[in-house]
Amino acid sequence: MALLVKQGRLINPATGEDRVCDILIEGEVIKEIAPTIDAPDAVVLDAGGLVVTPGLIDMHVHLRQPGQSAKETIRSGTMAAAVGGFTRVATMPNTKPVIDSTIIVEGLKYKIAKEGLVKVDVIGSLSKGLEGKELAAMGGMAAAGAVAFSDDGRYVQSCDFMRKAMEYASMFDKIVIDHCEDETLIAGGQMHEGTVSNELGLKGRPAVAEDIAVARDILLAEATGAAVHIAHISTKNAVAMVRRAKAKGLKVTAEVTPQHLILTDEGLRTYNTSFKVNPPLRSEDHRRAVEEGLLDGTIDAVVTDHAPHAEEEKDCEFSLAPSGFVGLETSLGLMLTYFYHTGKLDLISLIRTMTVHPAALLRVDAGNAAVGKAADLTLIDLDREWVVDATAFYSQGKSSPFDGMKLRGRAAATIVDGMVVMKDGEVLA
Ligand SMILES: [Zn+2]
Repeated sequence: MALLVKQGRLINPATGEDRVCDILIEGEVIKEIAPTIDAPDAVVLDAGGLVVTPGLIDMHVHLRQPGQSAKETIRSGTMAAAVGGFTRVATMPNTKPVIDSTIIVEGLKYKIAKEGLVKVDVIGSLSKGLEGKELAAMGGMAAAGAVAFSDDGRYVQSCDFMRKAMEYASMFDKIVIDHCEDETLIAGGQMHEGTVSNELGLKGRPAVAEDIAVARDILLAEATGAAVHIAHISTKNAVAMVRRAKAKGLKVTAEVTPQHLILTDEGLRTYNTSFKVNPPLRSEDHRRAVEEGLLDGTIDAVVTDHAPHAEEEKDCEFSLAPSGFVGLETSLGLMLTYFYHTGKLDLISLIRTMTVHPAALLRVDAGNAAVGKAADLTLIDLDREWVVDATAFYSQGKSSPFDGMKLRGRAAATIVDGMVVMKDGEVLA
């Protein structure tokens, strides 16, 4: 079957294109891109007034599989991705059991092929059981399709282990994604340590816990030559260190979430558990520093760290609530509202952080809307105004600090391998 995406404004950061055109899709592949295409047999998707981009990629999500289907499933998580405009996500290994062996990667890939509405890449763990002691079966997992390695959710405390893990991951040309918070400094911490935590009487997680962790891993990246990717960066020193590491030519990259770009610890004054996340939402000076890091290119990718929990888990006293919240259905709208519509970031630069860059980091052939490539596309209505309603999320997780917020811009349609899987906020397949 052929699909003709008609008269959309194609923004393709991989080639620098920004032009109104027709895109003809045959089967799963982009067949032709031209100012106008005549294809009488094709189904027409009118993209007039819309932006068309390569399918958005989120390289940091928690789809909670295997094992935690009360929080999320491959089905519900990929429906949320499709609604958010994502055609591809990479899921983290802090599951039950941990994704630390070839057989678990293979089992998960099988489930993804059956139930996934969008493409899902698997990130394997660095250590067996996330214990930071014994190396996981990275070689076998890489052969089974794992795209990167991470003990996300936990910082690898042992320097010796991390050095070995970096050397090992390098052998397979995979990045090591590190959750950077020194555990001894954050023990018992509920939120960012600062004025607000003092006023609320909650134990803090200091920024220096992240700074120390990032510093060590940049030093280890230099010592080993490994490619190290700093997950959900959130402090000014961490951004400055990544900036210096890049200037020095090290293989150090970083990602940031909309929440760390937009929110601060002021949001916790209501003890709303929707604002609880690790690393924590920080003070305005840190927020501004990560924003600068995104604008000057120090930060490579925007990710959600989509972390669904069952409703009853989040609905409790602040100190008992688990950290993390969902993000797939709000990320694009937030980035358009706070970065594109404010004029802070042009559209092509913004889309680059959600397409070409994550594809390159994951070493996958994606993020480029060009002839011969897989027909993964996102249609975006830049001016569509909408209000976030967490109860209406396709994700099983309903906790979001952005609930009730008015946003401008959202995905109008999501196309995966030539199939329209989402249109006007409704999942189709
Ligand atoms: Zn993390």
